[in-house]
Amino acid sequence: MNRPNIVILGAGYGGIMTAVNLQKKMSAEEANITLVNKHDYHYQTTWLHENAAGTLHHDRTRISIKDVVDFNKVNFVQDTVQSIDPKSKTVKLEDGELSYDYLVVGLGFESATFGIEGLKEHAFSIQNINSARLIRDHIEYNFAQYNLEKEERQDLITIIVGGAGFTGIEFVAELANRIPELCQEYDVPKDKVRLINVEAGPTALAGFDPELVEYAMNRLEEKGVEFKLGTMIKKVNEEGIIVEKDEEQEEIKSKNVIWAAGVTGNSIVQESGFETNRGRVPVRDDLRTPDYDDVFVVGDCAVIMNPDTERPYPPTAQIAIQMADTVAHNLKQLVSGSDKLEGFTPNIQGTVASLGHTDAIGVVFDDKKLFGRSASVMKKAIDNRYLLKLGGVGLVLKKGKLDMYH
Ligand code: FAD
Ligand code: NAD
Repeated sequence: MNRPNIVILGAGYGGIMTAVNLQKKMSAEEANITLVNKHDYHYQTTWLHENAAGTLHHDRTRISIKDVVDFNKVNFVQDTVQSIDPKSKTVKLEDGELSYDYLVVGLGFESATFGIEGLKEHAFSIQNINSARLIRDHIEYNFAQYNLEKEERQDLITIIVGGAGFTGIEFVAELANRIPELCQEYDVPKDKVRLINVEAGPTALAGFDPELVEYAMNRLEEKGVEFKLGTMIKKVNEEGIIVEKDEEQEEIKSKNVIWAAGVTGNSIVQESGFETNRGRVPVRDDLRTPDYDDVFVVGDCAVIMNPDTERPYPPTAQIAIQMADTVAHNLKQLVSGSDKLEGFTPNIQGTVASLGHTDAIGVVFDDKKLFGRSASVMKKAIDNRYLLKLGGVGLVLKKGKLDMYH
């Protein structure tokens, strides 16, 4: 094979880091590298809840692909992937077709809706820049509308967030900080606003350190968040949601329902016939699919098992970024004619969840617990370290969270 075609699908954490790693490892003569993405920008999914709440502008979250990818070495195609045919080694795009010798699938996640009635039609979810921007605008519109109504319309200023996993909690925390500003801007009495977090399980942040969970819940309750634990969202309609707790149903009226209760791999992967486990590909050690030696999967489209817990690792940006190192290394090996591929082992350096601009909780370096400002500084340091890896000091200065201490 002379000058093989390497095609990377998706410019999320896994896809763009694979491209950036490859452009460092390979010369343009070694392979034709093509990166395909829906937009001409990469976005930091881990900041989208801030964009959705309106506490951070989405232009801080997105990064122009041309600013980090060397177009002399990587051919960028802005298009939408429709399907993959691993047998004929082709990818169908909205506007054409690509053939590959090696493929990297990094198409990210979708909301898992678990077949809940009305969810797709009536709830929002935090998935990308477009959906985050829509949530921000929608909430603002309803706050603006409130004082124009002749009758009391509590549903306009009731915000419901489904799920108290990391996404739900981080989003609720941003909203809790944003609501006082919204109230001032739109002359809405703050004591009338309801911010409700509905969680099916008995606790928020299941499986996380209980002391840190308690800290987070106390902080959020102090800011007016109402938690409904052990409460399952059963249905969503135009009026709001139907929840169930202890076999009793309740209707909560709200025009602002945001579903943050779980994710699955991009459905294109399953629909293209790859073996999947709940929508994600159970990749081999070297991150190739079980059936195809020329297809790698990075990020949320892949699932890997944690041998200690015998459960899958939760899909995270941290793992997606690390996977991109292994995939780039393995591609370099294959292109150089070697079949000595490296196995992937995640190096989990900790988990830190933001609770707004200056507050957070986290466990780092195995078992060190962090609360409040020190956790928040750590979170921003993690974000800045990613930007440094992606685009160097210039990118950190342009897009980083440098306001760490205030
Ligand atoms: P993604 O980041 O989902 O990117 C996928 C890319 O593919 C996007 O650029 C998209 O535009 C593109 N794409 C999708 N479909 C197509 C198509 N059909 N055609 C062309 N392009 C397409 N993890 C952490 O480790 N730490 C955190 O603090 C953290 N915070 C989070 C906060 C929020 C609000 C959310 C939602 C998740 C958070 N996560 C966090 C999880 C983390 O964001 C994901 O695990 C990570 O984004 C997965 O990266 P990825 O490369 O698989 O894909
Ligand atoms: P998740 O699966 O971790 O949490 C979803 C929550 O929704 C669960 O607690 C679940 O019990 C609840 N739920 C499910 N169905 C429900 C229903 N019908 N009614 C009410 N509650 C329901 O999903 P997530 O929070 O979106 O996180 C996705 C991934 O992203 C995870 O791997 C997470 O670790 C990662 N993430 C990490 C961070 C961080 O590290 N700071 C932040 C955000 C997300």
